[in-house]
Amino acid sequence: MSQGRQGVSRAPPAPFWTDLRRREKEFLDSGRGEFRHSASFVSVSSIAEQFYCEYKVENGFLLGEIPTEAKDLGTALHDELVPTEEIGEEEFVRLVSRREPSYAVLRVWGTVGGLRIVGMPDHIVWAEGRPLWLVELKTTRGDPTSLWEDQENQVRIYGLLLDLMGLDCSRLGLALVRIKAEELSDEERRTWVAEVSTALQSGKVGDLESRLGGRMKVHQLRHDRRAAVGAIMSKSDYWLGKREPTSSTSVGKCRACEYSSACPKSLSKPA
Ligand code: SF4
Repeated sequence: MSQGRQGVSRAPPAPFWTDLRRREKEFLDSGRGEFRHSASFVSVSSIAEQFYCEYKVENGFLLGEIPTEAKDLGTALHDELVPTEEIGEEEFVRLVSRREPSYAVLRVWGTVGGLRIVGMPDHIVWAEGRPLWLVELKTTRGDPTSLWEDQENQVRIYGLLLDLMGLDCSRLGLALVRIKAEELSDEERRTWVAEVSTALQSGKVGDLESRLGGRMKVHQLRHDRRAAVGAIMSKSDYWLGKREPTSSTSVGKCRACEYSSACPKSLSKPA
């Protein structure tokens, strides 16, 4: 089942959503390029990456994106597991306002610690206009039971932004799903998003994990404003130009990093 992605519609939506759209436009028009590297906005994924290695974010600006086979494969698997299609604003509002759970994502945005932050979560389960589950998917070839700091903070910050946008997050749960997607059958990939959504809503995630035989781990977290704000504040000075980027102290991280051969801070240079 595919989920909707909010797009543009001329039809008038309910007042909350109309106001949200107005506030979003004001927010997006407010960019002044005052952050590091003249950025007007900071992406949630960049803040998350700072938890892996801040110099990796710096290299992204200085050296550009470096495509890798693993990234391309991850993107393809990701699109297969969570397919989306553009829908209009009126349809989005109708979909998320239903009593029965529905799936739709929208851009999340907000200002925290002086940073204007934007992001696009992978998947959100809604009912009656409230987000119930925010799901972030990470494909892996490694151990799905590990939960890394960058991944945890990414899903936490998405939840915070939804909250700051004025949505009712009183029942919001966060799920960071790590999955060996390459090992799933075509049928398992096709039904994955519906299966994980249903399992989260019914509290039967353990059953689904058992059925997938160790190929998936759903890390469930409570939405926690303070934890998410703390994560942003611990990294904001980099963007505000108050300090230089830190770099990894892990040889393993540098070995796995696509900037390893060009990075002046790399701990893993080719022999
Ligand atoms: S090579 Fe190491 S220090 Fe350099 S960006 Fe990659 S992880 Fe960071």
